[in-house]
Amino acid sequence: MQENGSSPRQLVQILAKTPAFSEKGAERFLEWLWKKSKEEREALLKEWTDFTAVGACEQCFYFSKDNLCRFCQNPERDKSTVCLTVSPFTIDIIEQNADFNGTYFALGEEASGHHNLKKIKIIQTRIEKLKDLITKNSVKELILATDFTSPGEATAQLIKEILAPSFPDLRISRLGRGFHSGDMISYGDPLTIKKALEGRE
Ligand SMILES: [Zn+2]
Repeated sequence: MQENGSSPRQLVQILAKTPAFSEKGAERFLEWLWKKSKEEREALLKEWTDFTAVGACEQCFYFSKDNLCRFCQNPERDKSTVCLTVSPFTIDIIEQNADFNGTYFALGEEASGHHNLKKIKIIQTRIEKLKDLITKNSVKELILATDFTSPGEATAQLIKEILAPSFPDLRISRLGRGFHSGDMISYGDPLTIKKALEGRE
């Protein structure tokens, strides 16, 4: 008799290749999901399916199903102020917590001491796109919202060094008060994020 292979072993292996899971972690996650109701599992699957249609805004690299994201498309947004983050998820955090009406730019990768060529290529390509955006929208202020960790500080420094000579009139600021050395913006509480944006320097 032929045995049907219904163990999600293959799914465990796929998940274990992601940065989020070890093989044990993937097993635990699937076991947790397996115990949920059919409706809950289907709701999660629907989110996954929707996510497959999400790409990146061609201008700022925030999540978008269209060529331009909701921020870049919105005529009410102040296009002359741009807040730069590494991850598009940090854009969500700032948007939810700070009173900010400018637009955003997601760099995609952090600069670090390690010379990972793939990362360097992504950063270089994005910085070229950022330069185009600054020129196109006559950007007056760029707020660097990278983490306060050493890769985050190195990234902020790199952006400053590259952009300052080409755009002498551009104000390049950094999130201020509230965050300390080693802090990651995503873990900041709402008030800290709000104050840090207001107190940028
Ligand atoms: Zn955009």
